[in-house]
Amino acid sequence: MYTVRFFHDSGFTQLMPVMLGKSVDPLGPDPGSSVVKIPEIEYQGEKLRLTTSMILHKQVAVKGIGRIFIMSPNIRLERAERKESGRHLFEFTQADFEMSGAKKDDVFGLLEDYYRGLSEFLAREASEEFEALGIGIFEFKPPFKRYTTHELFDKYGEDWERQASLAHDQPFWAICYKREFYDKEDPKEEGHFLNYDLIYPEGFGEGISGAEREHEFEVIHRKIKRDKLDLSPYATYLKFAKAGLIPSAGAGIGMERLARFLSKSKHISEVTLFRRVPGMPVDI
Ligand code: ATP
Ligand code: ASP
Ligand code: MG
Repeated sequence: MYTVRFFHDSGFTQLMPVMLGKSVDPLGPDPGSSVVKIPEIEYQGEKLRLTTSMILHKQVAVKGIGRIFIMSPNIRLERAERKESGRHLFEFTQADFEMSGAKKDDVFGLLEDYYRGLSEFLAREASEEFEALGIGIFEFKPPFKRYTTHELFDKYGEDWERQASLAHDQPFWAICYKREFYDKEDPKEEGHFLNYDLIYPEGFGEGISGAEREHEFEVIHRKIKRDKLDLSPYATYLKFAKAGLIPSAGAGIGMERLARFLSKSKHISEVTLFRRVPGMPVDI
């Protein structure tokens, strides 16, 4: 309720999610990728994929509308070992948003307001529930610290996400990852990227990912080829890119990961009613 109201009050238009797409998030290439495969169905002679994330749809939609958000269900068939991470489901929901003409500082500002307001909202509306759980309401104290992934790697080593998360008592931003083609490379510094994650403290790990976006057809096309992705699923998206996408930035808040962090739950499945846990059967 808080999330939907926050985005409405901040001038965002809510879109309904799509669950099937021709062009969906490839989620890589990423050597650490934990997704087994992207499920595909054939219907009316076309191949459609289950939504991994709506990033490419967001880029198309933001052009006409300016500020959009979607409570977006995602299917990601994570490897069975992910059961042990405590933070992976194979079906989950992102509060996924995108803003035309925005830069990463605009996204940081918006999200820091979101978290500040969330602590206030919970103190006002949910103190009894937290009392019943026997835990306090986490007080988010933005602005959150900002680090590059290079700094974090130098200080904490390869396992930096977990180690840095354990070493902090407030969330922090981790900036600059080499990842999917749609995240913008810094035009001033090749090999650096204008993307970011928000990492929750106390060992809870990643809660949000987002970026400024590539919007020029030539760049997108070159990077899809760089990543050795099959071009055919991206044909429709590339058509939109050729017709002209616009500069934008956004992110997706993992709703179950947020609920897990707030409730200090050991496993993310404890905060979902119909749990979809990698390596475990589905109840219903
Ligand atoms: P991780 O590295 O933890 O596997 P990711 O970087 O692959 O996650 P993103 O593609 O960045 O995930 O997804 C955007 C957001 O959606 C994440 O920051 C997280 O909050 C949420 N999310 C991603 N995958 C899952 C999952 N399997 N279960 C629950 N939430 C998820
Ligand atoms: N929601 C993410 C973003 O806006 C994309 C993802 O799901 O990885 O960048
Ligand atoms: Mg991520």
